Amino acid sequence: LQSRLPAVGTTVFTLMSALASEHGAVNLGQGFPDFACDPRLLDAVDAAMRAGHNQYAPMTGLPALRDAIAAKAAALYGHAYDANTEITVTAGATQGIITAILCAVHPGDEVIVIEPCYDSYQPAIALAGGVPVPVAMRVDASGYSVPWDAVAQAVTTRTRMIVVNTPHNPTGTILRQADLDALADIVAGTDILILSDEVYEHMVYDGQPHASVSRHPVLAERAFVVSSFGKTYHVTGWKVGYVAAPASLMTEFRKVHQYDVFSVNTPMQAGLAEFMRDPAPWRDLPAFYQRKRDLFRAGLAGTRFTLLPADGTYFQCVRYDGISDLSESAFAQWLTREIKVAAIPVSAFYSRPTESGIVRFCFAKKDETLALALERLAKV
Ligand code: PMP
Ligand code: GLN
Repeated sequence: LQSRLPAVGTTVFTLMSALASEHGAVNLGQGFPDFACDPRLLDAVDAAMRAGHNQYAPMTGLPALRDAIAAKAAALYGHAYDANTEITVTAGATQGIITAILCAVHPGDEVIVIEPCYDSYQPAIALAGGVPVPVAMRVDASGYSVPWDAVAQAVTTRTRMIVVNTPHNPTGTILRQADLDALADIVAGTDILILSDEVYEHMVYDGQPHASVSRHPVLAERAFVVSSFGKTYHVTGWKVGYVAAPASLMTEFRKVHQYDVFSVNTPMQAGLAEFMRDPAPWRDLPAFYQRKRDLFRAGLAGTRFTLLPADGTYFQCVRYDGISDLSESAFAQWLTREIKVAAIPVSAFYSRPTESGIVRFCFAKKDETLALALERLAKV
């Protein structure tokens, strides 16, 4: 078979999780919580199953869940998405991302991605026949930032879409109002679409706001905004997310969605709709994770790693140049095997070989897991 994705191998997350378990390492690699979700969410799903919500959901998602998502977007971001025509429930953010790309990108279209970036964007663009155009983030002593001048220079007449991600995996940076304004200036007067991956929308720290693209009038009118219940409710294995977009875009999105998944599992949607009635879980999430971030950073401050800023997500990036001159991949493997703490090399989030001497740790872990990891990392 001639591969549609010849450059793709097994993802770094699968590889590092396997290596972590092989060596009995604390797994701070792949991003997922090692603690339980709210039992009320489990009860809500259980009740939904027992009440008979076990057959196909509507193609677009359960109305109660779409209503809850629309109400939340209106309350948090001031954008009134129409629950019937502008919101679709997806099988995780991953399916939302690939569906948005497949419905919008034609063969030969260029899609600008800002690297390092999440690993599903570029294969999705390739499957659509599009051409990924990577623009590298700037990284210096003060951390990572998006060079909007370089993004503007990457725009051509073939540019169909720009993918942004805030809060950002893997760097832990966030976009601010000025970033969104810069992006709006770039797309003004063009028909370039935006795909905004906001799966970490509730993990923004130090009282800063989440600069959602859905809040920005110029960007929202041309944007697919993606989120994931897996991140917000500590249930990454459920793979339920959603996409919000203006009706004209959502119509095309649903044409693909109805054939790449048709609908998403019903009892989870019913349980999530019920659980969403309480705003406390997402309102309390920044403080919950900020405490873990601070705990982890305080522990790392006593080690030979150098901390980069961590304004959002549940990831902490560190420099290890004072420790080793191994490549990021080799260093992450060494750390897993010898120190028994798994990390992810940031180089895995670039399409071209890029070594910055930086690895990513996930701090969505029980305090005792973080304490054990820190004890080991202090010995490096
Ligand atoms: N986007 C980003 C930036 C992510 O980190 C993840 C989760 N790893 C996803 C999308 C995928 O989310 P889901 O698990 O809901 O498919
Ligand atoms: N989003 C998770 C991470 O960045 C991993 C998801 C996956 O395993 N594909 O660690």
